Amino acid sequence: QAVIVAIDGPSGTGKSSTSKAVAAQLGLSYLDTGAQYRAITWWMVNNGIDITDPGAIAAAAGKPEIISGTDPSAPTIIVDGTDVAGPIRTQEVTSKVSAVSAVPEVRARITELQRSIAAAAENGIVVEGRDIGTTVLPDADLKVFLTASPEARAARRNGELKGKEAADLAATKAALIKRDAADSSRKTSPLAKADDAIEVDTSDLTLQQVIECVVTLIEE
Ligand code: C5P
Repeated sequence: QAVIVAIDGPSGTGKSSTSKAVAAQLGLSYLDTGAQYRAITWWMVNNGIDITDPGAIAAAAGKPEIISGTDPSAPTIIVDGTDVAGPIRTQEVTSKVSAVSAVPEVRARITELQRSIAAAAENGIVVEGRDIGTTVLPDADLKVFLTASPEARAARRNGELKGKEAADLAATKAALIKRDAADSSRKTSPLAKADDAIEVDTSDLTLQQVIECVVTLIEE
């Protein structure tokens, strides 16, 4: 029977690394929903959509074709035929993604895509995001909500950034807190812990410990 696992939480809590590793270990598919929101944001920026105008974002929300590859050892994200795995991680996209993600038409479109991908995953799937347990897959077999201190999250995120964009820990922390506040305060499907989610504070855990914890929860 296909097991559905929802892993939510703010940025820098280890969601992606944990979700990918758990999926690979258990032979499940993997979906990075943040990558989908980043991909639609990248498309809006590249197509001259005014991202300060929710009406313009809403009108364009249905236009790009977004394809997510769900192999946890090689996840892919393709927009209108272009592999955008690199471009969606720039600071420009990161700083704009919350505004685009807050538009209800964008959420409706991406949520539908996520549900169809989960339904098609024959062996089951680990889906990571912000509103998976609350909105996208409320009937998931297991819901995990990862948290960590702002310091731990900023340090991890800073370690992921490359070259020029890295190094300024204070700036990374400020940007991360701002994005989480925007994601938590939007009206449609905000970042939130589902009532039946199990909260895991990863501040003082190694990645391996978090992976083992989630695998144990799935096997229970
Ligand atoms: O996980 P990641 O940091 O790549 O997500 C990027 C952004 O996408 C988040 O800050 C949030 O604005 C949006 N997002 C969302 N709902 C999800 C996943 C991501 O709104 N389920």
